[in-house]
Amino acid sequence: MTIESEQTVLTDGFHLVVDALKLNGIDTIYGVVGIPITDLARLAQAEGMRYIGFRHEQSAGNAAAIAGYLTQKPGVCLTVSAPGFLNGMVALANATTNCFPMILISGSSDRAIVDLQQGDYEELDQMNAAKPYAKAAFRVNRPEDIGIGIARAIRAAVSGRPGGVYLDLPAEVLRAALDEQTAARSLVRVVDPAPKQIPSRESVDRAIELLARAQRPLVILGKGAAYAQADDTIRAFIETTGIPFLPMSMAKGLLPDDHPQSAAAARSLVLAQADVVVLIGARLNWLLGHGKAPQWSATAHFIQVDISPTEIDSNQPIAAPVVGDIGSCVTALLAGLTLACLQPPAAWLDAIATNKQHNAERMAAHLAATASPMDFYTALRAIRDVLADRPDVYVVNEGANTLDFGRNIIDMRLPRKRLDAGTWGVMGIGMGYAIGAATVSGKPVVAIEGDSAFGFSGMEIETICRYQLPVVIVVFNNGGIYRGDDVNRSGGADVAPTVLMKSARYEKLIEAFGGAGHYVSDPQGLAKALSESIASGQPALINCVIDPATGTESGHLKKLNPQSAATHAAEPQRNDIKR
Ligand code: ADP
Ligand code: MG
Repeated sequence: MTIESEQTVLTDGFHLVVDALKLNGIDTIYGVVGIPITDLARLAQAEGMRYIGFRHEQSAGNAAAIAGYLTQKPGVCLTVSAPGFLNGMVALANATTNCFPMILISGSSDRAIVDLQQGDYEELDQMNAAKPYAKAAFRVNRPEDIGIGIARAIRAAVSGRPGGVYLDLPAEVLRAALDEQTAARSLVRVVDPAPKQIPSRESVDRAIELLARAQRPLVILGKGAAYAQADDTIRAFIETTGIPFLPMSMAKGLLPDDHPQSAAAARSLVLAQADVVVLIGARLNWLLGHGKAPQWSATAHFIQVDISPTEIDSNQPIAAPVVGDIGSCVTALLAGLTLACLQPPAAWLDAIATNKQHNAERMAAHLAATASPMDFYTALRAIRDVLADRPDVYVVNEGANTLDFGRNIIDMRLPRKRLDAGTWGVMGIGMGYAIGAATVSGKPVVAIEGDSAFGFSGMEIETICRYQLPVVIVVFNNGGIYRGDDVNRSGGADVAPTVLMKSARYEKLIEAFGGAGHYVSDPQGLAKALSESIASGQPALINCVIDPATGTESGHLKKLNPQSAATHAAEPQRNDIKR
């Protein structure tokens, strides 16, 4: 829509935003509309973009973030001012923490009034509020700067270490008129938004020298390696060297979990004994015990492949940093391999094989038993068997025990198919990630959710049904956070803090929106409901009832959860498995 005024043809900020996004190949917006961005979403749709409307901004943001992770293009989330913006911020902060490229675009109120704190509608200094949680934050103050603003946002999101970017669009900039020629000239097509970063020759040589001296080498693949989409190169490096590898949870499937070199089933052993560790797109954060004893050998040496130079030495001294993009770095390492880097000593491989065998047998024994009511093993075994025939299915996974057991039991065979609680171990990503993955891929998604985790984004099942997405949600219903059998220690009528409704019929929620609901309480029922739901390609929710007494407090993170002596005494035996 343009306005003729004498000779000049006018356009406005709304059109410029849509034109700038389209010019840069961004074809989808995830959001919740309202003042002042409703017309922006309407126009984007009219101009051929996909607009996916959510029930809460946090889920819209999570969908955008995971779309960014899967496509290497920034996922765009659109929100209204102040509260909508703040709801979206949780997802933006999570995207930044996980290194996912995302742009949160929020409309904002009158800056003159906001800055003098004179009480505007939804008054908030959004750009400054966003800064600590974003990789970058920008505000566009003139319509002729929209093109540059979007170009800067795209570049900031995807170049170097990817992250979340905030872009503030005040209402007056959106509605401001501009002549069409000036507008057209102001648009920017971003050329090479994430340029390759080639590692230095010296850094590669240093890494190769260290690797050649290794007696017990180990490769750790992180979600940075999955994001990089250098799958063939990474596989060639691992298979050529013969080094055992350990995938971090979202790197599962980069090489298949049943690959002979996978050391996942010998995790504790390889961390404790490796003498040279090659980190590829994985940070030495809490998920890896910060690279320190007692989990690690105090004498381990690290080679770290990462795009961010300041990641190096963040937790442990890194003997051989290789800074650059993973594709370029692993290509250079592969080209530089010497004979001494090939085929690790047999003693090391044998020790791993023995430990793997031992742990695999333990796991097999757990999985062979059929518990009634179901426990995590019994239910996840049924899911594992169904998914074994469907490597193309995306697996979203969150919860405490549901996450920890799920990661260990569900094998992945293809890259970037497992999407989970990530760097923060956050809850609430489930439906957003499922919608984002289904939207960008058109492929089926199975979201394996703790009953508590599901609650954080559960209303998005209406979104899933509205867009008829091929998403199957399995709610592990043990009636509680961690487990459902805790008691109120005062003896009062309220349930304990960790307890949820025991008889909740989650499957009826999706029926309200026309989706298929299933109630299952045994593994046969679960397998049948799951395979039929996946085959249908339609939204479905399986209420999977498991024993309220199954599950441990804080899942595998018990040591992060300080407890009083009284609680300790009251808590039943931990039902753990080796990670
Ligand atoms: P995980 O949780 O799986 O261990 P992390 O999120 O901790 O993974 O680490 C991912 C790392 O990958 C980050 O340090 C990030 O800088 C890095 N990274 C992301 N994309 C690339 C890329 N294309 N090339 C190199 N490093 C990357
Ligand atoms: Mg639960």
